[in-house]
Amino acid sequence: MTTTALATGPLKATDRCDSCGAQAYVRVVLKEGDLLFCGHHGHRHEAKLRPVALEWHDETDRLQPQPTPATD
Ligand SMILES: [Zn+2]
Repeated sequence: MTTTALATGPLKATDRCDSCGAQAYVRVVLKEGDLLFCGHHGHRHEAKLRPVALEWHDETDRLQPQPTPATD
């Protein structure tokens, strides 16, 4: 069993987007270090960064509104 050196814990409320300072929901691990993005900037930079990212940690599904219970 191999141990990964990458810290991929859940993002915290104190983690901030590197572009706009909003709460971060995406962590991009690059050779040079980590980048944090909000959902908006995560998607904006995804096409450029994803091919070079060592890891792409996306919690933007937490941004989705809770499913409304079906009404009878
Ligand atoms: Zn942002």
